[in-house]
Amino acid sequence: MKKFELITLPYEANALEPVISEATIGFHHGKHLQGYVNNLNAAIEGSEFENMELIDIVKKSAGGILNNAGQILNHNLYFTQFGKPAGDNKPIGHIAAAIDAKFGSFEVFQKEFVQAGATLFGSGWVWLSADTDGTLVISQENNAANPVQKGLKPLLTFDVWEHAYYLDYQNRRADHLNSLWQIINWNVIEQRYTEK
Ligand code: MN
Repeated sequence: MKKFELITLPYEANALEPVISEATIGFHHGKHLQGYVNNLNAAIEGSEFENMELIDIVKKSAGGILNNAGQILNHNLYFTQFGKPAGDNKPIGHIAAAIDAKFGSFEVFQKEFVQAGATLFGSGWVWLSADTDGTLVISQENNAANPVQKGLKPLLTFDVWEHAYYLDYQNRRADHLNSLWQIINWNVIEQRYTEK
């Protein structure tokens, strides 16, 4: 059977400092995400889900299989959206225009997105997604849920599970979320938004 594998990060483990420390990347990617990969591979063996694409497992499964598959999809999108910190880091191209059209400005969008993440109760993710006509949507998703379950195309996400920030920011979730804007690779978000 096909085995899912831990994704390789498109940057060094210390490349996102000081926004995300090398220690947090080590635990988050190397331990937490690896754990979800190991759990999913064990859970789907001999089931109807073995040999299915990850996104289809997320759309069709439930329970422990959904939890682990959802967390792999979520983290794969999360870790691959980052790059080297930059002070004046802004959206480009079609995604920039879509953000302005929906929210009025990048600054208003940032505020609404961080607010959604800061107020999500417990563990989960805040997402920017596109609906079928390209209109942008912010959503809070609990635990391992992903917007593909609602027919949306996921573009950008902040992980608000405590394991994502507790080593570096302790209880200051909003400070962590506000700092993440420095490391978003908007070329990746633009590519996700424009690809069919
Ligand atoms: Mn996480």
